[in-house]
Amino acid sequence: MDRALLHELRAILGPRGLIEDRTRRVAYECDGLAFERRVPELVLLPADTAQAARCMRALHDHGVPVVPRGAGTGLTGGATPVEGGVVIGTARMRRVLELDPVDRIARVEAGLVNVELSRAAAKHGLFYAPDPSSQRACTLGGNVANNAGGPHCFRHGNTTRHVVGLVAVMHDGEVLDLSEPRVDPLGDDLVGLLVGSEGMFALVTEITVRLTPAPQRVETLLAVFDDLDAACDAVSEMIAEQLEPSALEILDKLTIEAVEASVFAAGYPPDAEAVLLIEVEGSDAEVEANSAGIARVLERRGALETRRATGDEERAKLWAGRKGAYGAMGRVAPDLYVTDVVVPRTKLRELVRRTTEICRERGLKVANVFHAGDGNLHPNVSYDRRDPDEVARVLDAGEKIMEVCIEAGGTLSGEHGIGLEKQKQMHLYFSPADLDAMERPRDVFDPARRMNPGKTLPIRACMETRTRPIAAASSDPAARRASPDAAAAQSTSDRERPR
Ligand SMILES: Cc1cc2nc3c(=O)[nH]c(=O)nc-3n(C[C@H](O)[C@H](O)[C@H](O)COP(=O)(O)OP(=O)(O)OC[C@H]3O[C@@H](n4cnc5c(N)ncnc54)[C@H](O)[C@@H]3O)c2cc1C
Repeated sequence: MDRALLHELRAILGPRGLIEDRTRRVAYECDGLAFERRVPELVLLPADTAQAARCMRALHDHGVPVVPRGAGTGLTGGATPVEGGVVIGTARMRRVLELDPVDRIARVEAGLVNVELSRAAAKHGLFYAPDPSSQRACTLGGNVANNAGGPHCFRHGNTTRHVVGLVAVMHDGEVLDLSEPRVDPLGDDLVGLLVGSEGMFALVTEITVRLTPAPQRVETLLAVFDDLDAACDAVSEMIAEQLEPSALEILDKLTIEAVEASVFAAGYPPDAEAVLLIEVEGSDAEVEANSAGIARVLERRGALETRRATGDEERAKLWAGRKGAYGAMGRVAPDLYVTDVVVPRTKLRELVRRTTEICRERGLKVANVFHAGDGNLHPNVSYDRRDPDEVARVLDAGEKIMEVCIEAGGTLSGEHGIGLEKQKQMHLYFSPADLDAMERPRDVFDPARRMNPGKTLPIRACMETRTRPIAAASSDPAARRASPDAAAAQSTSDRERPR
């Protein structure tokens, strides 16, 4: 690190805001995708937008790559500094700056932990709807960068539906203030462009979001199945019947066993092949109509039993099991590879089977816990990264899973983003022209490619050396996306969301 730059950063940030010591920097070498690691040269923790802007200007003047980071709970390597440079984290920016219950708007700093916003809003009868299962750790900034989803995004939509304004620091330290929260903005939707940009356009420092009124009534159901296929079919049928639960989550047997043996034990029956966690919310009439329809589907699909949470405590326990499931998998093996693909919901059963086979054929242990209502599969492969052969099999399985899901009319990610993990597969879904179009905004936001370099878009070499073309898929990605199946697979898009 250049001495003059180090001197300048010390002066801007002071000792609390700068991590120079290598042992402490190691904590920033990767996120939840443990395959790729690189220790950053420095870790910067600015206290506010003004400090962040001064840091970004100094880094720009010295041509240093910058990797934004929230809590590091990402699962695709997005916050991993693969090309060196510095990590700039938001851990010291976690204030709720404004909460207006009348306009139902909150303005927060990017490092605020997701669940803290709902806690702050609760006293006004409001909540922040996107609820990633990592919500007790992940930050609003990370949610914005990845357009995060969560169990209740089935009804309420992913992060992009809730963000109305941003303040972001550009690559050269310029502050872009897009924080006009109370009226529909005029002009180009730059906020929309920044949501989902995976830290490659700018460092987001402040976020203005919509808050949602707490529903009049909530019912949480746990349906127990002796067959995973039947649980998948129940979900497809509920969608086909136009029922409107707010969450539809499946946990398979291995997940149930891991959860029940852990501190997150929720009382799921350990001998069940699958459970379906369902939530219904709204007015009394809405809840009753939906619950009755759901009960009929569950009966037709052979649910062995349906439990109804009797109060807030039981409800919280059922959700704690779901949200703690990845943590519970630590009992199965030291490492976990969480894939994230979306498939048409009519093909849930088929793709859960196929992805499970892909893992088993490679001698891998796979558990499924997923946002079934969104068609968002998460085959979770337990492994030990000290075993290079097993790591190779895990990576191979991950690639194959993405291929079969795209062949089936699905997409590469429902919520975790592309990061490092899915770069090589981008050409399976997007044409070279699509990828070129995606490059162009980067020319505007970050001409020197110093913002989170090496992420999301495939480097040319990957695009040109397709080692494994998809035989069954259409050779024209545009045609594939225009197919009805692909349209169904866009499950996290605004088009499908009930308003
Ligand atoms: C147990 C577990 C459960 C999960 N469940 C879900 C789930 O239900 N739904 C879901 O969507 N995800 C889930 N995830 C994935 C992850 O939590 C989300 O992607 C989350 O949005 C990441 O937030 P973070 O603060 O940890 O961001 P990080 O991991 O630190 O960063 C993620 C990306 O955002 C960029 N970034 C971070 N902060 C900023 C900023 N201020 N400005 C610009 N770019 C920034 C980074 O460069 C990186 O590319 C889960 C992860 C775990 C470990």
